[in-house]
Amino acid sequence: MLNLSNIEGLHDPGFELLLKAARKYCQEAPLASPPVEKPLSAALLPLLGEAEAPLGEGTTLGVRPFGESELSHLHYDEADTLNAEQIKKDFPVLQQQVNGHPLVWLDNGATTQKPHLVIDKISDYYTHYNSNIHRGAHTLAARATDAYEAAREKVQRFINAASSEEIIFVRGTTEGINLVAQTYGRQYCTVGDEIIVSELDHHANIVPWQRIAQERGCTLRAIPTDKNGDLILSELERLISPRTRIVSVGHVNNTFGTINDVQRIIQIAHQHNVPVLIDGAQSIAHTPVDVQQLGADFFVFSGHKIYGPNGIGVVYGRKQLLDKLQPWQGGGNMIKDVTIERTEYNVPPARFEAGTPNVADAIGLGAALDYVSHIGIRNIEAHEHRLTEYAREQLAQIPGLTLIGNPKQRVSVVSFVLDDIPVPEVGTLLDKEGIAVRAGHHCAQPALRALGYEMSVRPTFALYNTRDDVDRLVIAVRKIVGESRP
Ligand code: PLP
Repeated sequence: MLNLSNIEGLHDPGFELLLKAARKYCQEAPLASPPVEKPLSAALLPLLGEAEAPLGEGTTLGVRPFGESELSHLHYDEADTLNAEQIKKDFPVLQQQVNGHPLVWLDNGATTQKPHLVIDKISDYYTHYNSNIHRGAHTLAARATDAYEAAREKVQRFINAASSEEIIFVRGTTEGINLVAQTYGRQYCTVGDEIIVSELDHHANIVPWQRIAQERGCTLRAIPTDKNGDLILSELERLISPRTRIVSVGHVNNTFGTINDVQRIIQIAHQHNVPVLIDGAQSIAHTPVDVQQLGADFFVFSGHKIYGPNGIGVVYGRKQLLDKLQPWQGGGNMIKDVTIERTEYNVPPARFEAGTPNVADAIGLGAALDYVSHIGIRNIEAHEHRLTEYAREQLAQIPGLTLIGNPKQRVSVVSFVLDDIPVPEVGTLLDKEGIAVRAGHHCAQPALRALGYEMSVRPTFALYNTRDDVDRLVIAVRKIVGESRP
């Protein structure tokens, strides 16, 4: 039963929507006592979205806040393109001044900011139903467990996994790749075997495999990149051999924004019966991901790169593979039965989630995926593409500025250097103008070095960035090079 008196006074737009829908359903029944109670019928559910936690006294209901909602219009302008100005208002951190200027957040490749919705969901969890999960036989444990598992299902739908049992919650991409390296790598790689990564990869997809290669006596090979920042896929055909045990590559490179042709990589690897891990840290928020269509064996990403909380991430693993893998960490939750002599392990995904999980942030990630789904990943992709092309055009006209990398297909990353001005100094000078960018090696030293650089300045765009943000960046860079021409 939905007790309307419980939810009065909540200001989250999602709950306002819920109230509106509920009122409509109840024929404008007053919210005052006596409380109006109606069964949640099929007629109401499509309006409310999917309840993710049982409704109860005092809960702020776990209801998908958006959908085909009246709120949608807020996020689109008259031309029906994504309204970034409006979207920006959903992000409290972006409402501040930094060094006397309105903050322009162009460090989205490092991390994205969080909308109210996500922050509120986490706060709601700790305020109303914080509990350990799976073990407690009480109301809050049941509520927390349902919300945690609902978040898993949201991830499943977002990346189109066949089953939520293929979704493992971890701390982030780094931990996810380490999990696969320490389980699959330990189990299947032996002396003389080979592991393939790429020159475009983040250190998080190099170091864990290097360590396993050293430990197991294997060789690590890398698909090389050309001078535009595109992988030379013909080299993969040459590198792959009967000793290759896994190919692990990034979907999108974090320094030049290259979208790697992972479908082709998977095809080539599968022709040799080699499984493929895709590091989706830089793709998940910028381009649609369908793990089944890709044929990925593992797909890993971090919540904080897609408007979700820090400290939560995902390993997708094909069920047939996960079923064969030994656990990584041992402890509670990952077992079925323990005696002093031996342990019978749980089935996936619990087998890979030892100990108390990060319940609050998994729920927060679920909310972030709702938010992105509401706006539409295709719309986000198109918006970011327009911004990136505009930024590249504008920056290219600045004397002494060199854009680095020109891949065939890219997401919203721009990398550049300035003649005679060290990269870290550019970062500091932009910060003085309230503009946050990355200035360094971006944890992708092999990628930068392949193109002849040690560091770059890297603005990266997200759904809340506007043309005005790009103009502010361009004006600030012109100022740094001593050029006042707007
Ligand atoms: N892979 C890529 C391509 C990245 O860009 C990053 C982070 O920037 C990572 C992996 C590591 O992600 P995290 O630090 O969230 O584990």
